[in-house]
Amino acid sequence: MSDTPKTPVSEKPGSRSHRRLKIETSLKPRALMDEGPQLAGAWEARVITLFPGAFPGVLGESLTGKALAEGLWRLETVDLRGFGEGRHRNVDDTPAGGGAGMVLRADVLAAAIDAASTGVPTDRARWPLVYLSPRGRRFDQTTARRFADCDGVTLICGRFEGVDERVLEDYAIEEVSLGDFVLTGGEIAAQAMIDAAVRLRPGVLGNAASTEEESFAHGLLEHPQYTRPATWRGREIPPVLTSGDHGAVDAWRRAQSEEITRERRPDLWAASLERRKTRER
Ligand code: SAH
Repeated sequence: MSDTPKTPVSEKPGSRSHRRLKIETSLKPRALMDEGPQLAGAWEARVITLFPGAFPGVLGESLTGKALAEGLWRLETVDLRGFGEGRHRNVDDTPAGGGAGMVLRADVLAAAIDAASTGVPTDRARWPLVYLSPRGRRFDQTTARRFADCDGVTLICGRFEGVDERVLEDYAIEEVSLGDFVLTGGEIAAQAMIDAAVRLRPGVLGNAASTEEESFAHGLLEHPQYTRPATWRGREIPPVLTSGDHGAVDAWRRAQSEEITRERRPDLWAASLERRKTRER
């Protein structure tokens, strides 16, 4: 055991724009009460979690971290534990009908959702309410774009066996999955989805054009990339890329993109052909 007190994320230097909602003492998110002009209207992710210390996590690094520090987007964590029952602040209980594990209680989660909804538009098209779940629709670039085009998003991270189904029904919560595998909790999925959305926000990536060319932007996987040295372990960069002929470079990249997509992702390739057919009709 270490004697060093854990510094809350919100007090770490350089991460001041990531603030935790102090729901126990006030129902009004702190950031909404004291937000600076630079933060007004910034895209926001609210995350309901038992592990607020897991945030901003990797989102605090590199381009997303810089954008967070600059107030281009905001991150609020709502500590589910604060809504727990009794002295031990219990948040879970055994599954009705028996079986392994524990389930997050409907009443506890509902209280957290209500608190997290302070100041949030009720129109879900402007601010989706999402439960990270392997049973959800699979997250993809279209969903990332949809989230990025909203004012913000509230993400509920499950733990244990998940959450009481009645909360999902009562709040008409959208379930979204990171992929066909099971994680121990929703936190990693939440960070992946926030990252994918935030990098689509204006000003977050240095070179805005790069989001238009990369994988999935046109329903195809990206062409290969190369940089210096010109020769490495006897391998050359494809000569067309150093030819200075931009038309030829574009054509080569397009052809590579199609070939890679056809080989690796027949599903994306078929969808792309289908779209082309519709356009030509
Ligand atoms: N018993 C559940 C799995 C629970 S995993 C089932 O079989 O469906 C615990 C938590 O991790 C879930 O509540 C969810 O929030 C998160 N989680 C696990 N896998 C995930 C995935 N693929 N995508 C998003 N969230 C996931």
